[in-house]
Amino acid sequence: MTADLSSPPAPTAALSRAFADLPLSPGQLAVLQQLEYFEMTPIQAASLPLTLAGHDLIAQAKTGSGKTAAFALTLLSRLNPRHFGVQTLVLCPTRELAEQVSQEIRRLARAQDNIKILSLCGGAPMRAQMTSLEHGAHIVVGTPGRIMDHLQRESLKLDGLNTLVLDEADRMLDMGFIEDIEWVASRCPPGRQTLLFSATYPDGIAKLAARFLRNPQEVKLAETH
Ligand code: ADP
Ligand code: MG
Repeated sequence: MTADLSSPPAPTAALSRAFADLPLSPGQLAVLQQLEYFEMTPIQAASLPLTLAGHDLIAQAKTGSGKTAAFALTLLSRLNPRHFGVQTLVLCPTRELAEQVSQEIRRLARAQDNIKILSLCGGAPMRAQMTSLEHGAHIVVGTPGRIMDHLQRESLKLDGLNTLVLDEADRMLDMGFIEDIEWVASRCPPGRQTLLFSATYPDGIAKLAARFLRNPQEVKLAETH
């Protein structure tokens, strides 16, 4: 049988690895070039078409696979710099990871002026964080306990939140953050997009996802070793 070259690609066709095939701004594509991100990693190629279309997502891929940019490009694509309120909240297990995530978002946000990213973690003085919040922020990255603390004091408001990210969800569960995460998620607007990233997929992740994600798409890449 001869192949019909005029037919559209089969549904099983490989996912594009080209950032240019995504609905990203020319400015964002230029930043990716500058950073020498020449093609998407497999988890980015599988996740970004779904998350940029607005789906909730559960993504599992090993450490070092580029999960941060998968959610960072999504949240940056819908960020409104003129609206000076928190539009994205990223929950991370540790201060060190929160700093790394903030840095990666900052690098990827280079094309957009005046985007304020705040890192709010335990162990740092509360007062200074409250003052920073008074000055406003577009993106908050933090550990669950400290975020809960700010919500209770009303120094952090999430009325305008459009994206909630649970990063390293397996580690947050291991560290006993489940109740804090539940409390924080219950204070996020119901219409937000929720993205859950994890290196492993224990039972607890499925339960967490079932409670806080809406019709999530699932992307799972090879098991970690
Ligand atoms: P993970 O969260 O999956 O552990 P990271 O998001 O920390 O992984 O990414 C690991 C490294 O890969 C980082 O140094 C990041 O800058 C780099 N990286 C991410 N995406 C790309 C890409 N598309 N091309 C090149 N490097 C990338
Ligand atoms: Mg990560």
